[in-house]
Amino acid sequence: MATPDFIDLHCHTTFSDGSYEPEEVVQLATAAGVTTLAITDHDEVRYWDRASDAAEAAGITLIAGVELSIEFRGKEVHLLGFGFDPEDASLRDALQQFRDARRARGKRIIGKLQRLGLKLELDDVVPPDFNGAIGRPHFARALHRTGQVSSVQEAFDLYLANGKPGAEPKVLIEPERGCRLIREAGGVPVLAHPVFYHAEEWIGGLVDLGLGGIEVLHSSHSDADARLYTEIADRYGLVKTGGSDFHGAAKPDVHFGDVRMPTEWWEPLETAIGDSQAAATA
Ligand code: AMP
Ligand code: ZN
Ligand code: FE
Ligand code: FE
Repeated sequence: MATPDFIDLHCHTTFSDGSYEPEEVVQLATAAGVTTLAITDHDEVRYWDRASDAAEAAGITLIAGVELSIEFRGKEVHLLGFGFDPEDASLRDALQQFRDARRARGKRIIGKLQRLGLKLELDDVVPPDFNGAIGRPHFARALHRTGQVSSVQEAFDLYLANGKPGAEPKVLIEPERGCRLIREAGGVPVLAHPVFYHAEEWIGGLVDLGLGGIEVLHSSHSDADARLYTEIADRYGLVKTGGSDFHGAAKPDVHFGDVRMPTEWWEPLETAIGDSQAAATA
């Protein structure tokens, strides 16, 4: 039976906290029936050259993606960006700063874990030359690999989840800055997985700051969530996107094919990207 074509605009590689290399992610997506893919590594776009070569070889379309962490109304909120120029120097410089802040936070997490009696160095967590985005899943996987917890989830439950003794706040950016970075590189900023923060009450506030879309379909969204966020997106005239948020081992229950963004949603997104590119070069 032929696999129906679909779009997936949310996943991660080893350039952030995913466990598969860019080429592997493209192959897994293609095998599942994805025909248009966006990789949305946290604070990172240097997956681009490798992933776009792999996408060309696989015969699928790849658009540039990224996931930023902003602060809005006292909460950590994730902002996806789509369709920007992956070579944009201002965006790349800003992402390097965000990754540097993640590394500094990683050292603080190591200090906390060591004070809890765990045996872990930053070199056990990521390779010494790693310049991707370090996140808590790296620490969870390292604790599991070194036999100090029985699963990645146990590492979160005991040490790394918010409020647990190994957690450290992440450096978050202002929402205006996040939207501006994406728009000035010619992309469209989209609110990621709104169900995580019950965003229905304040999406209008982010629209005023430059938001252009909502991730309506996500592996954590129920059918009722999808209906709610479709209604909100349509009310504000925002584009709708969907993605699995595939990470590989960091989220073992999430697979390509779990979330299928309908191909009808592509054209409005493409139009919004075109508008953003026109504004960025004006
Ligand atoms: P970070 O970006 O370093 O704050 O890490 C956030 C990531 O850690 C999320 O995207 C999840 O993949 C994972 N994560 C956070 N909290 C938990 C949790 N309680 N259980 C499992 N995974 C979690
Ligand atoms: Zn992630
Ligand atoms: Fe996210
Ligand atoms: Fe994500």
